[in-house]
Amino acid sequence: MSILVTGGAGFIGSHLVERLLQEGNNVVVVDCLWTGSADNIKKFQDNDKFKFINCDVRNCISIPEDMFGKILYIYHLACPASPDHFERSPVEILETCFQGTKNVLDLALKSKAKVLIASTSEIYGDPEVSPQSEKYWGNTNSFGPRSCYDEGKRITEALAYGYQKSHGLEIRIARIFNVYGPSMQIDDGRAVPNFIAAAKEGRPLLIYGDGSSTRSFQYVSDCVSGLIALMKSNYRQPVNIGNDIETRVDDIAKLIVELVQAKLGDESAAPDFKYLTAREDDPRRRKPDITLANEVLHWKPTVTLRDGLMATMDYFM
Ligand code: NAD
Repeated sequence: MSILVTGGAGFIGSHLVERLLQEGNNVVVVDCLWTGSADNIKKFQDNDKFKFINCDVRNCISIPEDMFGKILYIYHLACPASPDHFERSPVEILETCFQGTKNVLDLALKSKAKVLIASTSEIYGDPEVSPQSEKYWGNTNSFGPRSCYDEGKRITEALAYGYQKSHGLEIRIARIFNVYGPSMQIDDGRAVPNFIAAAKEGRPLLIYGDGSSTRSFQYVSDCVSGLIALMKSNYRQPVNIGNDIETRVDDIAKLIVELVQAKLGDESAAPDFKYLTAREDDPRRRKPDITLANEVLHWKPTVTLRDGLMATMDYFM
């Protein structure tokens, strides 16, 4: 019996695979290495319990019968997650969200597997309420630069609901809030690696907007624990998986500069911040209400922003 992880060569996926292997499971990764990397899974290659299939989930997914036997669980993470990709490949992202997810759900039906869908806080759009609980329906723009992802993930959830309703498929929906940690791509356009790279090289840190918008960053190991707890639970509605400590973007940038300078032992002047026009439709606030995750999964994040950033820097520097 095995566990399938789509997107397992990506940032969150590779951490999840590592944990599942540590727990003694057979793990099959399906990934087309679009935004992930072979480097992220190199360390598993000698493990007999690990298999990799290079495949785009938009095409039919086929898992050889003799691979590890029956698939019990599917974690469906395959999808680009960085704003740079939203700008470059909107149609491909929408195809991944709809056709890719449909292929995964069909495979789950055939295998009688339970599926966890990696949804996102972005389905709340630019929220009018804070914190965002699972009951909030969101404020998204269907015709804009982020629509492929925000609306794509909304259709992913709707599709999963349809399969649960029509076919009785066992579905779990994780609404994941911003995650950071080792194995992110340094150049994929997300705030934490962007800030670390700039601070390390002494370049100005680019902040979109005036710095007052907020994010609630969770360290990747917390996210992985939340996903596994949700998969094991009996809860069939969406659950927020995030850290509820909200921080201004400019405060995160300042903390990263402080930590990078301390790590480099650099006494010279700190790099500047350069404020750019806010990205269109970028959410101004992000703060999860994690009461539900607490109640139904007995899960809450444990890694502080400072500790998580230091571990992330150990990877990048
Ligand atoms: P990532 O880009 O590092 O990983 C995604 C992986 O999926 C990559 O390895 C990529 O090659 C693969 N992939 C993408 N499209 C594919 C396709 N069509 N077929 C096969 N493989 C494909 O991103 P991540 O940060 O690890 O995110 C993983 C999942 O979690 C995504 O579904 C994302 O929407 C969700 N999520 C992430 C965050 C975050 O902050 N990182 C927040 C909310 C939700």
